[in-house]
Amino acid sequence: MTTEPLIGEPLALDLANTVISAPGGEADLLATEDALRAWLTAQRDRLDITGGQIDLSEVRALRAHITHAVEAARAGTSPHPEALRAINDAQRTTPAYQELGWNGRSITSTTRRPGTATATLLAQLAEAAATLLADPAIGLVRRCEGPGCRMLFLPAHPRRRWCSPATCGNRARVARYYQRHKQ
Ligand SMILES: [Zn+2]
Repeated sequence: MTTEPLIGEPLALDLANTVISAPGGEADLLATEDALRAWLTAQRDRLDITGGQIDLSEVRALRAHITHAVEAARAGTSPHPEALRAINDAQRTTPAYQELGWNGRSITSTTRRPGTATATLLAQLAEAAATLLADPAIGLVRRCEGPGCRMLFLPAHPRRRWCSPATCGNRARVARYYQRHKQ
């Protein structure tokens, strides 16, 4: 079981993986605004974050829809229509545009989105989810085999079994060792 956010999977999976298994149920790694800020900082290479207040409950609500849609899509079953609607709406609210400028020598182009910090973030998360959900690779998304671990990942190597070899992989090796030496 991993208690640190798993970073580096497709963004939609990283987001889904912020709800983790915990003793007696699950734990939310985006439980506070500070936790969300830390996660956004870890994702800064692929998320364009503006300053301003971000509504945590809206992020969590979109995360629930994305998680459901990922689970359905990887199983090849139909997601609830409201999940797809929520992901579509989040993108439509704040569509990206290329803002052109002049730097003295050539025209520059910067991706901008109109809207609040929350809407801008939701749009980017929804866009990442849309890309993954419609990709045939969604069928390859796997759940970690670590005991009690629920992390989802897209294996680059077909034999990958763990979210992290250092935590879940190691735990499984230790468990196998004790199993063998029990008698
Ligand atoms: Zn794991």
